[in-house]
Amino acid sequence: MSSASETGKARRGRKKPARPCFRQTKAWRDFSLKDLEKITEEEAKDIFRKLRWPDTNGEPVCPWCGSHEHWWLENQQRWKCRAPKCRKLFSLTSNTMFANKKKSFKDLIVAGRAFAIGAKGKNGIDMSAELGCEYKTAFALQHKFREGLLNSQMETRLEGEVEVDGAWFGGYIKPENKKINRVDRRLKENQNGKRRVVVGARERKGKRRTIVGVFDGEDQATAWLSERIDTMSQIYADEAPAWLDLHATHKTERVNHSEEYARGERNEINTNQMESFFSRLRRFEIGTHHNISGPYLLRYAADAAWRETNNEMTLKSQTMAILQAAIQSPPSRSFSGYWQRGSANHEDVLFEDVFAGFI
Ligand SMILES: [Zn+2]
Repeated sequence: MSSASETGKARRGRKKPARPCFRQTKAWRDFSLKDLEKITEEEAKDIFRKLRWPDTNGEPVCPWCGSHEHWWLENQQRWKCRAPKCRKLFSLTSNTMFANKKKSFKDLIVAGRAFAIGAKGKNGIDMSAELGCEYKTAFALQHKFREGLLNSQMETRLEGEVEVDGAWFGGYIKPENKKINRVDRRLKENQNGKRRVVVGARERKGKRRTIVGVFDGEDQATAWLSERIDTMSQIYADEAPAWLDLHATHKTERVNHSEEYARGERNEINTNQMESFFSRLRRFEIGTHHNISGPYLLRYAADAAWRETNNEMTLKSQTMAILQAAIQSPPSRSFSGYWQRGSANHEDVLFEDVFAGFI
């Protein structure tokens, strides 16, 4: 029989009392419904001006040529660029994913706040109830937010100690009723080809940023990881054969999960923080959205990665960051061939701005 010091009970006994989750603290709650109600449409517009043009404190910058000179056309409620070669008209949402929006700016703030609150994502039905809009409008708006968050992560390059891991999503095949008709669903020939792997990397210290990509196999992710992680970084990964390639470009330590979850003098060789990210993404799948596979998987993963990185921001800051990522994003574009390397191009049609008409 093992001694008490080796049992789980003894380990739990030694643990310090857990620090309260940031969301349980007063600091997080800085944007109540009462605060939200007080915002007028004019104030909401000003908020969006500052989010879109932070460098000029909300003064318009022509989205077509970058000029700061403009006229305000009162009758058209738009600006006209003064640059002689441009002279184009633009509004606060021109050339952004909210171009041609129908919702008010205030509604977008309400939606951004609702979206920020869900720790395991925000369900489209819940949001449609909160906004008093159709489900498809809420669904479209959420995917705009997710795309904004994905855009905001595009240039991120991780530094320091970085954990790497992958997890499979989608491609569920319902087992046949009778055992005799069932097949081994682990075998490739019995799968439906919809199963994709989300590969993520996460910094252990500092901003603890998380990045994600979607691939057909972990082995297809290594070039992407090498580009996105600083060459001076220390990588921690599990025993999956795909990560062997990382040794060529980075100092890499691996832990064999079939034997142990952590090794090293201080148990520092582990992927516990990536496990925490994937547990959030699983909760997205099981607890909130029920199906995150298929063409939207990358967006859901980027959403979860953003929440993992920014889980200690206040509610107001989170709301504003979500809205800023969206208003600074161009109209929806295709990500296939960029982050979804190795995948078929079935996203092409989807990423045409199919949501434009709803919001
Ligand atoms: Zn211009």
